[in-house]
Amino acid sequence: MNSFSIGVDLGGTNLRIAAYTRASGLLETILLPTRLAAGRHAVVEDICSGVRKLLHTYSSQHYLAGIGIGTPGPLELPVGRLHSPPNLPGWDGFGLREEVESSLGMPVTVESDANVAALAECILGSGRTLGLSSLCMLTLGTGIGNGIILNGKIWHGVNGMAGEAGHVTIEPDGPACGCGSNGCLEMYASATAVRRIALDAAESGKAPAIAALAKRNPDFTTRDLSDLAEQGDPDAKRIFDGVGRALGIGIADLVNTLNLPLYVVGGGLANAWDLFSPALFAEVRHRSYVYRLTEPGRSVLNGGATNGTRIMSAELGADSGLLGACILPYTLNREKQGSALSS
Ligand SMILES: [Zn+2]
Repeated sequence: MNSFSIGVDLGGTNLRIAAYTRASGLLETILLPTRLAAGRHAVVEDICSGVRKLLHTYSSQHYLAGIGIGTPGPLELPVGRLHSPPNLPGWDGFGLREEVESSLGMPVTVESDANVAALAECILGSGRTLGLSSLCMLTLGTGIGNGIILNGKIWHGVNGMAGEAGHVTIEPDGPACGCGSNGCLEMYASATAVRRIALDAAESGKAPAIAALAKRNPDFTTRDLSDLAEQGDPDAKRIFDGVGRALGIGIADLVNTLNLPLYVVGGGLANAWDLFSPALFAEVRHRSYVYRLTEPGRSVLNGGATNGTRIMSAELGADSGLLGACILPYTLNREKQGSALSS
């Protein structure tokens, strides 16, 4: 009998619960709104009833490899407790893992959403395509999520809080960030930041096309803005140059620190890769001599391009968080097997 897993992608707006096999991918996905207003226990009950439904459907044909949950952080591990998550208001100090386990009566694995997205991109996306098992991923969304995968496993740090590169400093005296610092990367290169910068430009009176867009559609998206840039509007293009510049500064620091083979930019804003990547690469080349020494096609090192530093947009799209939650149990099983073999 083949195995299956269940993955839960808990977001501030949507809750997705899926059954998955390695041979067939996602078998069935349950999509629900995240009932934040009904309280966290109601959301846990929604998670558990979805999991029970999938267990009921698939347990007769497959055995369960495990249940993985991806959640917005900050998340303390291994206990699986949330600490003031900005996207889950009222959940401060909530022991998500304990609550779900006591309701289901079985163990679950909880991870931050950015970590599971990075895991999926490594094992099922660009990491698999390139034959690499380590990467650093930035997910550009409301904020900037970050996950670091080393040799096929999530790098957690001592408290489960590694991978907060969305909060590396780009401008010491820049705009105040929700984390308490100023001028963090996510103040320049998240979808939220791009909208804020565009609205500031519209209000300045010096960006007429952006002002017209904001007047026509006050809820304009980063996609609307990238359409404007692609049509040649210089003010919109400048905003994406700024996104690339900020990402390039942040990624140069990561390249200099980590020397990983692959850095991936994902999330909805990554659709504008062609607009912001020239400024990104110019900045990384300027600020990282590690990158200059290891850039594919230009590397002077032995091994050249095969051992180089690649920076690219993510292969997986909006399903990366859900897929990452689904494959989480398999990476844990492999860890157990590995330790059993080596001991
Ligand atoms: Zn910050």
